[in-house]
Amino acid sequence: MTAPIPKPWIMDIAPYVPGRSKTDDGRVVAKLSSNENPLGTAPQARAAFDAAHGSLERYPDAGAAELREAIAASCDLDPARVIYGTGSDEVLHLAAGAFAGPGDEVIFVRYGFAVYEIATRRVGALPVIAPDRDYATDVDAILAAVTDKTRIVFVANPNNPTGTFIAREEIARLHAGLPKWVLLVIDQAYAEYIDAEDDDHGLELAKTKPNVLVTRTFSKIFGLAAERIGWGYASAEIIDAMHRIRAPFNVTTAGQAAAIAALAATDFVDASRAHNAQWREWFAGEIEKLGNAGLRAVPSKANFVLVLFEGQVTAEQAYHGLMDRGYIVRWLPGQGLPNALRISIGTAQETQGVAAALREIVAG
Ligand SMILES: *Cc1c(COP(=O)(O)O)cnc(C)c1O
Repeated sequence: MTAPIPKPWIMDIAPYVPGRSKTDDGRVVAKLSSNENPLGTAPQARAAFDAAHGSLERYPDAGAAELREAIAASCDLDPARVIYGTGSDEVLHLAAGAFAGPGDEVIFVRYGFAVYEIATRRVGALPVIAPDRDYATDVDAILAAVTDKTRIVFVANPNNPTGTFIAREEIARLHAGLPKWVLLVIDQAYAEYIDAEDDDHGLELAKTKPNVLVTRTFSKIFGLAAERIGWGYASAEIIDAMHRIRAPFNVTTAGQAAAIAALAATDFVDASRAHNAQWREWFAGEIEKLGNAGLRAVPSKANFVLVLFEGQVTAEQAYHGLMDRGYIVRWLPGQGLPNALRISIGTAQETQGVAAALREIVAG
């Protein structure tokens, strides 16, 4: 050996491809590639972030005590059972690190969140892909994939990149069908976009069952993607195991302060949810009008729409056509979706603009 050799399972990882922030020529009309909040963040959160600059030389609170209290108060949880991460991405990695390893299997859906595969392979475990049902999560397919080696099931609800959502009865049926040794991770990165009456009751399961972890993030509706803060909730035993491998000071001082203020800014969150629902429905309607050109919107409960291209104009052509007009969206050939574009809901102007650009592209 003439040089260090990475573990083989590490070299099997296809690196994560983030949403682009610049067009080919550098001109950006709208960045609709990363499901960020087009309304920004709450003014109170920005103010709290700004005020935190006085203690740059000090480490953050390693226990994130105030943040955990604020999260627990907002969702009626036990603060001792809240874990926090550098984005919920870190929480997903902690789950994989604590509960899966070489020889184990981890299940997720075919069009699932890209981080699940990276987190699985990183610990030397084997990804097992459950087929979708018309792009949505198929509980029966997941249950059929379970073996003695299964250790984790990752389900995002709503799912990214499809935007699909399964009802609480389906989540309950999934949990009930899993062996007791399997950790069910319900990734709720977009939970705040769901109307309260449609809640999938994932947190209720995490409160009462010994094998359910719910993850949430401040990156999406709260508009704090730059600060990288997520959290998770599970039994005391699961949280204890995850803390053992968590980086000691993984959430910044300014980030903790901003997140606490963001949780209190319920008006901003409500306005963001209403804006998103209004423009998502409008945008899906515009796509429906392009149905004769082979465009189809997958039904979404999140802050983006997956648009399928099943006619003359391909997703790749539309991706470049939008790019030429300054609209950055996500084309996902690396995730098995060469026929689709994921388009985040932007401001009113951005959403109308991207719809008009698609009409133009389809008209040739
Ligand atoms: C965006 C997203 C996350 C995590 O984002 P963080 O910024 O790391 O908190 C997790 N899961 C899904 C499904 C997402 O879309």
